[in-house]
Amino acid sequence: MISNPLMFAATSDFSGVTRGKAFPLKEMEKRFRQGVGWTPTNVQITCFDTIAESPFGSFGDLILVPDADTAVTLDLEDGGPVERFVLGDILHLDGDPWSCCTRSILKTALKRLEGVSGLRLVAAFEHEFQSRNPAQGPGEAFGLASFGKHRAFGETVMAALEVAGVKPDTFLKEYGADQFEVTNGPDLGVTAADTAVKVRAVTKLVGERMGEPVTFVPIRDPAGVGNGVHVHMSFVDENGAPATYDPDAPWGMAQKTGSFIAGILKYMDSIVSLTAPSAISYTRLTPHRWSAAYNNLGYHDREAAVRICPVTSASAESAAKQYNFEYRAADATASPYLVLAALAHAGAQGIEEGLAAPQVTEEDLSELPAAKLAERGLVRLPQSLGEALDRLEENPRVAEWIGAEALDVYLKHKRGELAQTADLSEAERCARYEAVY
Ligand code: GLU
Ligand code: MG
Repeated sequence: MISNPLMFAATSDFSGVTRGKAFPLKEMEKRFRQGVGWTPTNVQITCFDTIAESPFGSFGDLILVPDADTAVTLDLEDGGPVERFVLGDILHLDGDPWSCCTRSILKTALKRLEGVSGLRLVAAFEHEFQSRNPAQGPGEAFGLASFGKHRAFGETVMAALEVAGVKPDTFLKEYGADQFEVTNGPDLGVTAADTAVKVRAVTKLVGERMGEPVTFVPIRDPAGVGNGVHVHMSFVDENGAPATYDPDAPWGMAQKTGSFIAGILKYMDSIVSLTAPSAISYTRLTPHRWSAAYNNLGYHDREAAVRICPVTSASAESAAKQYNFEYRAADATASPYLVLAALAHAGAQGIEEGLAAPQVTEEDLSELPAAKLAERGLVRLPQSLGEALDRLEENPRVAEWIGAEALDVYLKHKRGELAQTADLSEAERCARYEAVY
């Protein structure tokens, strides 16, 4: 069969779906300069393919301009087509970033962080997902036998990630039914979010091709475990030297690390709708699911919103390199660009405000009365997307951070999405989202 190979130029938009348009590979040079045409109202296409209220209507023209450094060419050598995609920025025709371009929003956030602190953010997104083929017997969490059944899939995922420019780290049979996790090495700035988009796309593609389709849905069964996206973060200074750790400070948090985390926790109730943005995300964010239900910092605690992760070495230099903290209230219905932008802005705000490092919690917060929580500045996170969006809207800071237009459009998008599943039962809602993510 004749073929004109195509390159798919993509954005991960407000819905967290990777969308775009393809062009002939042989026109790559031209397209990498000029981009492909894009329509403002596309940002209001919800994950259910409905169009939420759009201030743009049928008007406007934009360009989606690929960033050549993100291009992926992946031949799985299974006789199927070679996958080619490249991530990019949505710009006005004159080349200025568009207000609702998630990747541009992240670039602005990272620039602000560097401006206020001299710190550059390093991050890695850890993904949990589930096989859509229910094949697991009981007692197979972390099991060798169960891993063995999926070894070929895991090995192909790891190979494909490497080809895609991702540094594969671990692949595991997670605790949940048919649940897996894939982790990768850290990247600097925007690349960390690019990598997260690639991990989802590549893992899904391999699953489809190998007859083991997977879903990254935040929660599949309201009675089961959730699929989290945990964002590991650390800092380097202008010279690339580790800048997160201070061996003499409480819990090893360098001063700016403490303020950054304090900023995330202070603003967490108003940014969680950017990091966990689906109607079912809030079923996952409930106590005793090892996700996050309060705006707390934990030390090696997997129920904390932010967790200080373990370092394994006794040498201070190596500890400085390994030391990182993890944000656990994210899931794969969120665009990785928006997740990292929200965290970078809230953290930069914490540094600007000179916030003190948070106290580490060491107990089950769901057992503390509200008054005790309030004394310690702890709050239960919003318990529904509707509530989380109200908090987002009420916090004047967020409009300053991501821009009033982006905020308004995002709220319209998410409220439109919310209306789609309003009349469904929780289980039906999960199924709707599972069909998409
Ligand atoms: N599945 C849990 C979540 O939803 C995380 C379990 C873990 O600590 O790996 O975030
Ligand atoms: Mg896990």
